[in-house]
Amino acid sequence: MPDVTCLRCGQARAGFEKPPFPGVIGARVLEGTCTVCWGDWLRQQTMLINHYGLNVMDPQARKFLTQNMEAFLFRAGAQAEVDTSRQGTIDW
Ligand SMILES: [Zn+2]
Repeated sequence: MPDVTCLRCGQARAGFEKPPFPGVIGARVLEGTCTVCWGDWLRQQTMLINHYGLNVMDPQARKFLTQNMEAFLFRAGAQAEVDTSRQGTIDW
């Protein structure tokens, strides 16, 4: 696998052969995310889906997850807090 300099961990590590996500963001992941950090994101995503009770077919839920993915992997924007007092809501 090709090495990438990862935007999240800052290390040169194994990256992806193909984007693990579609579109522009997938291209950014391919260029700047190592497979280790992607695995960290998948765990974080599962936590967010469970915590907020998200339906991944719901466009608003997908937008929420995409924004959190960008924040998590690229350090862009704000990440949602996992706050148990707001379970089941997406607070914009
Ligand atoms: Zn990394």
